[in-house]
Amino acid sequence: MVAEFDLIDRYFRPLVADGDFGQLLRDDCAHLPLRALASDLVLTVDTLIEGVHFLASDPPETVARKALRVNLSDLAAKGASPVGCLLALSLPSSAHALKSEAWLADFARGLALDLQQFDLQLLGGDTTSGPGPLSISITALGHATGAAASQPPMLRGAGRAGDLLCVTGPIGWGYLGLQVLQGGLDLPEATKRQAIQHYRLPEPRLREGALLRGSGTVHACMDISDGLVADARHLADAAGLACLLDLAKIPLAEPKLDPVAQITGGDDYQLLFACPGEAAEAIMTQLEQGAIIGRLTQGQGLTLLDADGNALRLAKEGYVHAKP
Ligand code: ADP
Ligand code: MG
Repeated sequence: MVAEFDLIDRYFRPLVADGDFGQLLRDDCAHLPLRALASDLVLTVDTLIEGVHFLASDPPETVARKALRVNLSDLAAKGASPVGCLLALSLPSSAHALKSEAWLADFARGLALDLQQFDLQLLGGDTTSGPGPLSISITALGHATGAAASQPPMLRGAGRAGDLLCVTGPIGWGYLGLQVLQGGLDLPEATKRQAIQHYRLPEPRLREGALLRGSGTVHACMDISDGLVADARHLADAAGLACLLDLAKIPLAEPKLDPVAQITGGDDYQLLFACPGEAAEAIMTQLEQGAIIGRLTQGQGLTLLDADGNALRLAKEGYVHAKP
């Protein structure tokens, strides 16, 4: 493996520009003047480990882009726009040097694409190698801009009893993509491609998040990463409330396939939010694919209702990360 400095020179320094906050990746730290921000600073970090969150056979470009996008999805949930990110890479020392260099070149190309697409700077990072699997940790920084800057940050636990629960778009694409990649679903070719695209390159709902916060009417919001059912429960739990979900009202990626599998699978990256009824109606007129799917009530736990209003039993509520 080439020295850390050479890797930074070759693959990461070309991604930064003179005048960026990262000191051209030549200093100990990045300096981001607070006056460059329009609101509170919003921070988040997510780690992807080979063999756990992605496969060795996944294209390195999309691994980089997904690692960034899952963080941008967290910023979107708080109505924030991205400013910059830090990248901590732990490379497996056992990998053949040429293979890992080719991998890094593709990884950096993917990262460059999304830094440009989402208009944020690479501020710095860390590059190490060790005996463990390849691990990619990205920390993203954001701020609320425009109308969102003067509104509170839509905390996960700020939902109120009586609020309606809404989503910004269809649920289940992440589940379908994973199933297709694992060879477990027979779908038309075009649908398969769409499902894989959603799984590998989720779309962070930045525009929608800013719109929700800017409305000043959304109490709570989160991104759906663990599956709609599990995350609805997280949002209700955080507020000390119960939630009801109307299965028939949930927009599905593929209405012909098992709805429960689609609403309990992960990796959707739509936003789930809670707001009063009138506000929900107003917001729906501005969201192309949004839907009102349930409500928060006094109590505890999650109830899924069928079209006749009867409670359904669920075998599992989504993907639960195993404790180490
Ligand atoms: P230090 O020894 O002070 O921790 P490093 O030698 O690790 O600094 O890194 C040198 C510079 O390169 C720093 O500005 C750091 O932010 C940047 N850097 C290191 N690895 C990465 C990476 N994977 N992506 C982006 N910047 C990186
Ligand atoms: Mg270092």
